[in-house]
This record gives sequence, C-alpha cells and structure tokens, in this order.
Amino acid sequence: MKRVLSFAKLPENERNRAGLSAKITGSVPVLCKDKESKRQAKQIRACPSRLLSVGKDNEKTFFSNGCRAILPIFGYFCKLFQSIMPYKLTLVLTPKQAADVKYYTEQAARRAGVAEQDVALVRVVGRSIDARQRQPKVNLTLEVYADCEPQPAPVHFDYPSVAGRTEVVIVGSGPAGLFTALRLIERGYRPVILERGRDVSARKRDIAQINRNGAVDPDSNYAFGEGGAGTFSDGKLFTRSKKRGDYNKALQTLVFHGATPEILYESHPHIGTDKLPRVISNIRRTILEAGGSFVFDARVTDVELHDDRVKGVWVGDTLYEGAAVVLATGHSARDIYELLHRRGVRLEAKPFAMGVRIEHPQALIDSIQYHCESRGEYLPAASYSLVSQEGGRGVYSFCMCPGGFIVPAMTDAAESVVNGMSPSGRNSVFANSGLVTEVRLADFEHLRAEWGELAGLKFQQQFERLARQYGGEHQIAPAQRVADFVAGRASGSLPRTSYIPGVVPSRLDKWMPGFIASSLRAGIATFGRRMRGFLTNEALVVGVESRTSTPVRIPRDAQTLMHPEVAGLFPAGEGAGYAGGIISAALDGERIADAVVNYLKK
Ligand SMILES: Cc1cc2nc3c(=O)[nH]c(=O)nc-3n(C[C@H](O)[C@H](O)[C@H](O)COP(=O)(O)OP(=O)(O)OC[C@H]3O[C@@H](n4cnc5c(N)ncnc54)[C@H](O)[C@@H]3O)c2cc1C
Repeated sequence: MKRVLSFAKLPENERNRAGLSAKITGSVPVLCKDKESKRQAKQIRACPSRLLSVGKDNEKTFFSNGCRAILPIFGYFCKLFQSIMPYKLTLVLTPKQAADVKYYTEQAARRAGVAEQDVALVRVVGRSIDARQRQPKVNLTLEVYADCEPQPAPVHFDYPSVAGRTEVVIVGSGPAGLFTALRLIERGYRPVILERGRDVSARKRDIAQINRNGAVDPDSNYAFGEGGAGTFSDGKLFTRSKKRGDYNKALQTLVFHGATPEILYESHPHIGTDKLPRVISNIRRTILEAGGSFVFDARVTDVELHDDRVKGVWVGDTLYEGAAVVLATGHSARDIYELLHRRGVRLEAKPFAMGVRIEHPQALIDSIQYHCESRGEYLPAASYSLVSQEGGRGVYSFCMCPGGFIVPAMTDAAESVVNGMSPSGRNSVFANSGLVTEVRLADFEHLRAEWGELAGLKFQQQFERLARQYGGEHQIAPAQRVADFVAGRASGSLPRTSYIPGVVPSRLDKWMPGFIASSLRAGIATFGRRMRGFLTNEALVVGVESRTSTPVRIPRDAQTLMHPEVAGLFPAGEGAGYAGGIISAALDGERIADAVVNYLKK
C-alpha cells in the first residue's frame, strides 16, 4: 500500500523541464514507505530532477528512485528519468572557491544530493561577478550529471558542399560577411568573398608596421583585412541585440572554430586578440572546404547595375557576377559610401557618436570596482560601463578593454583614430575605453549643402584630421590628463600609456567641437562622482574615438532586407547601419543570408 508522506517543492524550471502538467502547481507528492525512502524524499526536495514520473499526465504520481516498489521497472523508466536531468544550481562563491574545481564540484554534488562517486560531470553553464558588496562574489551556475545520465556533446556543425551551386558575392570578410557566408552554405548557396585586405597572418605584419613606424596600408590595417574590424580587438561578444538572431548559435559557431568554450557561459564573454586570428582562419577553412571562395587584395571599386538590379561588382578591371550581392564593408569603408553616392544608390545620413579613448591604470579601476587594494589572483581585470545625460546629450563609455591596449585604428595616415583591444588574459597594466557623446544630424547640418547624405562622414573625417594635426608624426596621438581635460588646463607632461606609437600633450578640450568637449567634460565629472578615483590626472584622454558607428545608413526594405531601389543588393552589418559590434554584425549576416535565399527562391 502506498502512503503519501512527503511533498517535494519543484522549482519552476524543473517543473517545465519535467513537462509536468499545469494542474500540478508547486508541490509534488512523494510516496515513501520506510526510513530510506524518507531520506530519498529529502534528496528529491534538494534534487527534484531525481523524480520519476509513472502516472498519467494529469494525475502524476512520483516515486523516489529507491522505493522498492519501482525497482523492477527502473530500467524502463530510465529514459524518462534522463529527460528531466541534469540538476542545475547556482552557487554564490568567493573568487578563490569559484576557481577551485574540486571545491565547487563537492558543493554541487552535496546540493544535488548525489554521492560524489556518482557524479560524472559538473559543468559550468553560467558565471558572473557580483562586485556590489565589499567582498566580490562569483555566481557560478552548474549542471550536475550523475553516472547514468547522457552528458552534453560539443555542438558540431555540418557544412554541406556547395561547389557548383548558385553564387552569391559577399563584399567584406568581417563578422557580417563571414556569418553570411556560413549561413549561405548551410542553405546550399556558394559564397564568393571579396576582401580588400589580406589574410590574418599577412595582416599581422601590416599592423606591426603601423605601430613600429606609422605606415598605414589603406587596405590592410586594424579595420580592414580578413575578419574585419574585430580581428585585432578585445573580441567582446556581449550584445544587447540577442533578439536579432540566434545568439547561442553564433557563440557555438565561434567555439566550433576554436574559441574557448568559456564564452558559452561567461556573462560578458570575450575571446582576446591573441586567439581571434585562429578562429577567423578556421572559419575561412570551413568556407573553402565547403566550396566557397575567398579573394584577398580585392578592393571593390564599382557596382554593376542594370535596370535597378545589381549584377555584380568590379574589382579594378575584373567583374565578379553573382545572383545577389551582400555589401558587408564595415563603417570605415568611406570609398564604398562615396561609390554608392556617385552611382545614385540612395543613402541616409544618421546620428552617431564621437569622443576620445580614456585610459587608467588597471589597478586603479580594480580598486574602485572591487573595493580593494589589489584584485588578487582570482578576479579578472575589472571593467566598467558608464552612461549619463549631460545637457540633454548622452555620454557613455564604449568598448571597454580591461587589461588592454589603445591601438591606432585609422585607415588613412592623414587621420588619427584610436580604438582598443585586449589579449585573452587581459593582463596589461592599463584599462581603456571609448568615451563618446551623441552626434546628431543638426551637428553637421552646415555640411549638408556640399556633401548631402555624406555630411556626417565628412564631419567625422574633419575630427580625425584635427586629431592628426594636433598629434605627431608616425601616428603619435594627441592626449591630455583627465583632470586637466575636465578643468580646461594644459598637461605639461603625460603619464605612461599603452599606445605604442606614443602620445603628445595637447589641449583636446580646446580644439575639438565645443559640444563634444563640453559633454565629455561634464560626463567625466559625473562618472568621477559615481566611481571615486575615475576623475584623476593619473588617467589620460587620447584623441580620437570617432568610429563607434557609421554616420551613413544604406537603407533596406523591412521585409526583403534588400536595398529598396536596387534589387539583389543586400546591405549588411555595421557599415550599413544595422549592427554595432562583432556579434550583432554576425547575427545580421545570418539574417541577410536568409533574406538572400528568400529572394533567390522567388
Ligand atoms: C580595434 C577594434 C576593436 C574592437 N573591439 C570590439 C569588441 O571587443 N567587441 C565588439 O563587439 N566589437 C568590437 N569592435 C567593433 C567590431 O569590430 C565591429 O562592430 C564589427 O567588426 C563590424 O562587423 P562588420 O562585418 O559589419 O564590418 P567589419 O568588421 O568592419 O568588416 C568589413 C570588411 O569589409 C572589408 N571591406 C571594406 N571595404 C571593402 C571594399 N571596397 N572591397 C572589399 N572589401 C572591403 C574590410 O576590409 C573588412 O574586412 C572593434 C573594432 C575595432 C576597430
């Protein structure tokens, strides 16, 4: 005879996973007969996924898996049992405990009610740092797999051969271009990628030249070349636009191509500049093996248009024809905007943001964020994300690189542009981030008469040229101590910086457009009140951070994602104005590939 002795509370997520009917709300009866069964009932409360369902859907009856009554049918129900495993839990740990696999495995096993020898795997599925308290804590979300449970296999992608299939031309091999190509292959189309720059290994040499002697190759630099602008970066993969596509698939794709699996569970994942090139070249290998093609040193110089339909693109004297053309050229391809403008393809000026890079000693940021003298060996380099409204204008930090370097990101030696990157270990002694303010359409209205929709682009270019003028030879950048910048004082000397070409003292507050200088000064003062120590003369502002997003949008139809007036032309990614970062560009690339397939199927 069965007796109901105990009720185990099922958390919401476990209930969903077990597929319980809506009629069962919260408590689940556990049938027990003896002392051992009571012990197991306790375990079930701790580990609801150890329940075994044997009843009809609406009148589920649950037995603990040790009850003698069900032993003979245990094997039969093992499959059911597996479907509601593994057990998931979150531990709040000190940084040291979170780094100790043995420690958190024991804790997780205990919480799951599984004997340690029965634990097959404890898998980290989420990790975030909570630094709001004086003692920072790590929230570690784990899945516990017992011996009999199936363990998760790494995700594998099969890319079919597309040799001989319909060709789609993709201009640009940044995240948007590469993810368009991968998705097109999945859908059975052959991508032909045209890239103005060089492959990642040749590109490394070109980048070294910029840092060494200031020589900027206009086709191969921090913005241009295989992998696009994100190849030599921090490789931050966080995005606010997860709804625009399958974020997890994008991360899995990167892991499949060599990124570390940690990116799958870190709350703010990043890859690091030392690891990105390998991921990019592995993606190239996938595309080539599937039958796609890459052409490097192939700067697109014209588009072939017939009756408002694109037929292909020109690289010098060579025409590359395709059933569709994806334009994924990034926000630094000014020649592409000028080309489209010249050919009468409609563009739209859009608001964007500009400012400076700000650089602090990493130890200072650590001490502010972690409330400690030094962060010790178990915490990562601290980061920040700041935003304020100053006189009705947004000021915000952007692309923060903890333990990173400021890099020369210009595409033309006549301009000074800075950006940031970090290695995977984020172990430099500096912390930098973009600090920018809104640039509105009205701010460059005076350039409209001459430049039309390219007015914002010209405004951006003027800012970069001013920075070059106040900087020095060989990409030396103009800089000012932060407290001096806010107070409107000259800096007689400058502190050490990570920026390899070097910095020269300059009154940035004087020569940059007044609305940018005043917004940034007010913003830094606000941030200094929120983060004590942020406003300091130990820190530098370096000019200029101007390429946060594109000042020009290439319009596209909301349904077809094609240019509204040019059939077969698909603007994609950041350069077209539909992304802002590695992942959002990748997700946009996937959407565009699907849109291309829809177009070609009609
Ligand atoms: C130094 C640096 C650090 C960054 N760090 C991060 C970060 O940590 N996280 C993040 O999310 N984002 C970061 N970004 C921004 C990120 O790289 C971009 O948002 C992203 O790369 C945009 O992707 P995309 O494919 O749209 O364009 P891009 O990556 O800009 O790619 C465009 C490609 O088109 C090619 N191209 C341009 N014109 C032509 C032409 N005429 N013919 C043929 N090819 C052409 C270019 O060479 C380039 O390869 C960083 C950017 C820089 C410069």
